[in-house]
Amino acid sequence: ELRLSHYIYTIFLTVKSTPTEIIAGLETGADDFLSKPIQRDELLARVRAGARIIELERRLGQLARTDYLTGLKTQRVFYEAIAKEWARVERNHAPLSCVMMDIDFFKKVNDVHGHPAGDAVLRAVAEIFHRNTRANDVPCRYGGEEFCILLPETTEEQAAQWAERIRRQLAATEVQTENALIEITGSFGVASRGDDTDRPETLVDQADQALLCAKQTGRDRVVRFQDIRAGGGARCAVGGPQSLLADIAARQAMSPIVHCLSEQDTIGQAAEFLLRG
Ligand code: GH3
Ligand code: MG
Ligand code: MG
Repeated sequence: ELRLSHYIYTIFLTVKSTPTEIIAGLETGADDFLSKPIQRDELLARVRAGARIIELERRLGQLARTDYLTGLKTQRVFYEAIAKEWARVERNHAPLSCVMMDIDFFKKVNDVHGHPAGDAVLRAVAEIFHRNTRANDVPCRYGGEEFCILLPETTEEQAAQWAERIRRQLAATEVQTENALIEITGSFGVASRGDDTDRPETLVDQADQALLCAKQTGRDRVVRFQDIRAGGGARCAVGGPQSLLADIAARQAMSPIVHCLSEQDTIGQAAEFLLRG
């Protein structure tokens, strides 16, 4: 009945040996059932079988905790870590920050260069997080091309500085794939636990709101939740005509140029078309 974080493999050793008793033992949750007198070799063989199950459970647990593509932690690990940190922070009042990052115009990377190139970009981004985090930080692939990093013992200002450093590294990174050199940028939202941050989900939601604001105000930037709140949210009002126009303009600028060549056009003519803009 205990909810333990690991599996306990249980073998009944008993003088009882009728089928009804064996079934009752297994139904209560035992994994195996041995009747006395105990045969030493049989017991050892059954323990070895149990050890194989425990090892499988450990490997499955590892798979569920690590993102296969990037090697970063999964969202599940993030929420476990934030729950643990939350309890600690409530006792010692240390700062706790959360950074959300979403790659800009990532769909275009897939559309123009293909899905494997998109995967290579995701791995390169994860590498930047690996290189720039300390042992207590928890960098996760939150989903798709969205990353969430828990920064214990870090104020919002420090977290924003950290995010700014990552943003610059990202903008300076060129991912070399088989056919292309891909440049990317990312948008960041930063939030810190305050008096009104009642639970972990609220902190994540605040970082997400800040990220949305970073997207709406032009991308490739870091926005702090404190700054949105200080401005009453007006700077990032959802659906504002200004931000909508900026969004459309940015998407146009990132669109691939599509030009259908006739059969007579040479490569030179195609190049000239592109150079003329
Ligand atoms: P925005 O700047 O607004 O974020 O634009 P965006 O194009 O990045 O939009 P969005 O964040 O919605 O893009 C998500 C895209 O990420 C869509 C999906 O195809 C791609 N994606 C999600 N997971 C993977 C993955 O594992 N590999 C690859 N190659 N692409 C992925
Ligand atoms: Mg996204
Ligand atoms: Mg994106």
